[in-house]
Amino acid sequence: MQGKPEPDIFTKACDNLGVDYYRAVIVEDAVSGVQAGKKGNFGFVLGIAREENERELKANGADVVVNDLEEIGGIEGIEKWFDIGLNKDLWSVSFHGYDCKKERSREALFTVGNGYFGTRGSLEESLNSECNYPGTYMAGVYNRLKSPVGNREVENEDFVNALNWTTISFKVAEGNWFDPNNDEVVELERTIDFRNGVLVKRMVVRDTDGRETLVESRRIASMANQHHAAIDYSITPLNYSGYVRVKSGLSLPEKNDGVERYRQLNQKHIEPLEQGAKNGISYIKGVTVQSAIEVAAAVRLEVFYEDKPLATNYQLKHEEGWVNTYVKALIKEGETLRLEKLASICNSRSANTSNPLGFVMEDIKQLKSFGIMHAASIRAWEKLWDQVDVHVVGDRLAQKLLRMHIYHSLTTTSPHNEHIDFGIPARGLHGEAYRGHIFWDELYVLPFYCLHFPEVAKSVLLYRYRRLPKAREYAKQHGYEGAMFPWQSGSDGREETQVVHLNPISGKWGDDYSSLQRHISIAVAYNTWIYYNITGDTDFMAEYGAELFFDICKFWASKATLNNNTNRYEIDEVMGPDEFHEKLPSASKGGVKNNAYTNIMVAWLFDRANELYGSLSKSQAEKALSKVGISEGSIKEWSIIAQKMTIPVNEDGIIEQFEGYFNLKELNIDEYREKYGDIHRMDRVLKAEGKSPDDYKVAKQADLLMTFFNVDPNVVQAITAESGYKLPKDFLSKNFDYYISRCSHGSTLSRVVHSYVASLIGRKELAWDLYLDALMSDYSDIQGGTTAEGIHMGVMTGTVLMALTSYAGLNFHSNTLSISPNLPKHWNSLRFGCTFRGIEYKFAITKGMLKVEAGKDKSTILVKSKPYTLNANEEISIKIE
Ligand code: BGC
Repeated sequence: MQGKPEPDIFTKACDNLGVDYYRAVIVEDAVSGVQAGKKGNFGFVLGIAREENERELKANGADVVVNDLEEIGGIEGIEKWFDIGLNKDLWSVSFHGYDCKKERSREALFTVGNGYFGTRGSLEESLNSECNYPGTYMAGVYNRLKSPVGNREVENEDFVNALNWTTISFKVAEGNWFDPNNDEVVELERTIDFRNGVLVKRMVVRDTDGRETLVESRRIASMANQHHAAIDYSITPLNYSGYVRVKSGLSLPEKNDGVERYRQLNQKHIEPLEQGAKNGISYIKGVTVQSAIEVAAAVRLEVFYEDKPLATNYQLKHEEGWVNTYVKALIKEGETLRLEKLASICNSRSANTSNPLGFVMEDIKQLKSFGIMHAASIRAWEKLWDQVDVHVVGDRLAQKLLRMHIYHSLTTTSPHNEHIDFGIPARGLHGEAYRGHIFWDELYVLPFYCLHFPEVAKSVLLYRYRRLPKAREYAKQHGYEGAMFPWQSGSDGREETQVVHLNPISGKWGDDYSSLQRHISIAVAYNTWIYYNITGDTDFMAEYGAELFFDICKFWASKATLNNNTNRYEIDEVMGPDEFHEKLPSASKGGVKNNAYTNIMVAWLFDRANELYGSLSKSQAEKALSKVGISEGSIKEWSIIAQKMTIPVNEDGIIEQFEGYFNLKELNIDEYREKYGDIHRMDRVLKAEGKSPDDYKVAKQADLLMTFFNVDPNVVQAITAESGYKLPKDFLSKNFDYYISRCSHGSTLSRVVHSYVASLIGRKELAWDLYLDALMSDYSDIQGGTTAEGIHMGVMTGTVLMALTSYAGLNFHSNTLSISPNLPKHWNSLRFGCTFRGIEYKFAITKGMLKVEAGKDKSTILVKSKPYTLNANEEISIKIE
């Protein structure tokens, strides 16, 4: 009976639960039924078993198996099971089968981590190969190397693939060690469970003699203790009995090898120092060759047969850079050999010790079992989820992906990061793309941390604050005052962006202007302001934030020059967020003049500087000014610059992206789309045709429109008006239409912004389509391969925030928190919490109703612009349209 044994009951059950009937399926035929159910992405598969296929149904992954429907109590029972099954689906992502081409991107999506370290979800049985790339990255562990390229030497600082603690493989009798790329993988299902932070694998493999083995594993990075990780690994012969050998490895990667285009560079970042085993514990220690960060791990194995501890004689083998432990056991058909691999991981930079090996050797002794470690980690995850979950009813895909995005955000940056000197790497702790560098992408991410984990947000800002001296040096080198932050930042805050590139075809070196994206310094100041506004943390501002903010303003003031002809200030030699435009057509110098995003945002910063100054006590303000070496007069001067900023607007009310943009050639994007299909990297398409994107009105991502993502359009309008420009009433939709039609969305960040602005102007459907694409960015690797090199933090956390800002209508930009729900039509409800100015709120939005619960203090919030006062711990319900 495939699909619908009792359609009425099931349709009703699904209706009652508010789920799509076709998301749940009932099957009788074990193999094809369950697998088809799973492949069809049914959240829940209920198996109705005949005696002979009960085990098979379970083994194939049916969520529940019953002998007849009455057994689970008719419709109520079905509802209960559906609910459990569907819930599982809403908290996890599964992939089925093994596909070499997709493996690396799955590894990124299966990453487990806790902010201190992240471990890619590569199969335990895999080593670095064309298909697989095991990797563990640790917050702040970078290393710098020089490499000969052409006739020059280039220097890069990389995020170090620091160790591999996950290797486990097995062999049956005298066969070969199982290798997923050579041996037959009959079945493979992997699930990353967001709620519990565990990666679960179930795999059946068959060797050339027809022996089938069931391999199951669970893997965690403990959220309770930043150093802890574990794998629970078991082997069950399905159709044979015999000797099975299991190998568990601990190693230092020979080199970074996660990104193909970096392969010609020197990538050997870590040197082995020590490895071996002591009292059943294997260990390894290495050091990064330039940054001299020591990395160490210790691993203990516990072996069980049919869940009873098995006394084992471990065999050991180790050589420089690796240590393997071997276990051999006779396993009977259908019985299980299980290994618990418990690990402690540490480095000398971001931990409480300068002796990481000593630390892990002590630490490992207190690790009791996978179960105990996992239970502690689940509790820690539960606490986090209580704070951060965004609960959507009516849209299973969005729900699942929002949770996936929250999960990966927290594996990258978690409360453990409160004590680590590190920012938010654009590609998570999930891969080597962009060398783990920290970009302006933090701007898309930081409000999430401000709203939930202000101490973490503070730590991210302090990472910048500690690098102020470098930013001052960088400004000075370029003839500016104040603090100019680097476009790409790593360990010490110097500019990590390359300034020249070798063209492999022509063999010529050409300029790379991307470091002219000086708007990074807007992002750092903007984030400081957002932190201040959400938390109200005056102490932080007095001690650090104001200095950071004012020093950045000082830089912008020194970069802005007065044009005596127009009597307006101009900012030259910058690139906007749209990286396709590096300079004007055929110009010899890089950068553009009067990038509207930059100019408007700088004016906005100057206005905030005034506000910030006024919000501090006299002594606090004076202290901050003196640290920056300025006086109150500078704040006044900045206000004048803000009022006289150049912001070119044409007669249709379109703000020119930069000076000269309107003279560029039009490009027929549709024609290109038809010709090439995927044109998100339009720059590459054009270059391949011998053309330059500089010549065309085509953008990689939102540039001018980004302004409206950051700042209320009315405020933008006021800024432009202050400088003497008049915008038409419908300026937002006009500018939106103009620029979106010329955008190829070459960055995953692009759709977040466009969706947000579309929503501001009431284009609900378009906003939703763009939002959905943004949600799918990493899940379906929409850029065709980039997820493999690391997830995209900006779009992940950005979409989570947008559920709050675009759809709940939460606004945290003024002194009072406000909310103005605007749910997508098909969302029945949205629930979330946040902390604003020290008060915890819980919101529940359903159709027509908003419930707000406030925390410990009395507060006022605006609901659709109307003020409501909440007493401590009070819940109020407000009717909304
Ligand atoms: C985007 C930048 C972003 C960087 C790192 C680039 O592709 O264009 O805006 O900062 O990726 O994520």
